[in-house]
Order: sequence, then C-alpha cells, then structure tokens
Amino acid sequence: MRFKRMRKRNALIIITAPSGAGKTSILEGVRKLLPALHYAVSVTTRAPRPGETDGHDYRFVTAAEFQQLIQEDKLVEYEEVYPGLFYGTQRSELARACDQEPVILDLDVKGATCLNKQLSDTCLTIFVSPPSLATLKRRLVHRGTESEASLEARLERTNDEMRYADTFDEVVVNNDLDKAVAQTAALIQNYLAQ
Ligand code: 5GP
Repeated sequence: MRFKRMRKRNALIIITAPSGAGKTSILEGVRKLLPALHYAVSVTTRAPRPGETDGHDYRFVTAAEFQQLIQEDKLVEYEEVYPGLFYGTQRSELARACDQEPVILDLDVKGATCLNKQLSDTCLTIFVSPPSLATLKRRLVHRGTESEASLEARLERTNDEMRYADTFDEVVVNNDLDKAVAQTAALIQNYLAQ
C-alpha cells in the first residue's frame, strides 16, 4: 500500500466503535500500513493503563485541567464517555495535523457523531462493529481491564451505540482482525485518493 499516492489535503478520518469492538487493534494495524496518517492524541481524565504513556496514547489530565481546557475553548468536542471520565479532541492537535498530514481520530460514537456534523465535507467516518454482543462481551472479559460494574455499563452502552452504525459512511465488521485492518486501510486509501 503506497501512501504517497494519496492526494487529498486536510482530510480527516474518524474511526468509532462500541468499546471492545476491536477498534484499537484495527487502528494499530492501519497505522502500520499507512504510517503518514497523523493520530490525534486526545485528552482524558481517566488514569493511564499499564503501558500507556502521556502524550502518546492520551494526554492525561485532572478533572480541573480538563474543565480549564473547556473554558479556554481548546477542545473541538468532548464527551463524558463513562461516568466521571471525560475525553476530548484538542483543537490544536487537529489543526496541527490538518496542516501537515491526514489526521485520524479515535472517538466514541457520540463524539464521532458530533464531529461528523461539524466536518462532514472533509471527513470519512468508519464504524467498527463487533460480530455480535456475545463476542464483544468475551473480548472485554479477555482484555481484563474492566471491573464487573464497568463491563455491564459498557455492554449496555453498546446496545445503544449499535443503533447509530448506519449514520456513518462505512461499517467494518470485525470478524477477523487482519481482514478488518485491510478493509479499513483500503477504505481510507480510497477516500484519500479521491
Ligand atoms: P478508552 O478508555 O478505552 O481508551 O477509550 C474509551 C472510549 O473513548 C473509546 O471509545 C474511545 O474511542 C473514546 N475516545 C477517545 N478519545 C476521545 C475523544 O477525544 N473524544 C471522544 N468523544 N471520545 C474519545
């Protein structure tokens, strides 16, 4: 896959999914195939997970710092993705990336819908769907990052979020990770080559 064939400027790709659908793994694969994509680092009030680093995976901030960013209009969108846990897209990050390379954003379904409304002319939106709710539950349990309560909350949320799948440009069903990565990369490459 040759990224240099891509000609579109200031393009934006939004990838979204219910939690645990495999979006992060797909993104990792896509970023390897298309290394010139700029990954926009979000701000969050949640704690870093083991292996995550500040400024690379997220910019980790306190609730007070997050409120300050909102007040200063530094976030192009933000959501309380889980109770008490805020995530937001930094305006500066988006602007910097758009000036240079196509930017890819990893957002929850509400945030993706919000940005899609603001930027639909220059954005490709991709919804990653788990094969089934049962598969999603297995994946979340296997990942082992959730308490019982947060697992239930995430699954309940998935039921709601799946209803929005058709509002996005493309839906990738993550049955097989390698195939889903290839499909997503091809969608992005086609979009950027237009
Ligand atoms: P996690 O805590 O598992 O890293 O992310 C939880 C959810 O927050 C994921 O669905 C992820 O896509 C979403 N998310 C990450 N950054 C942002 C952001 O800047 N804005 C919004 N709305 N959602 C985000």
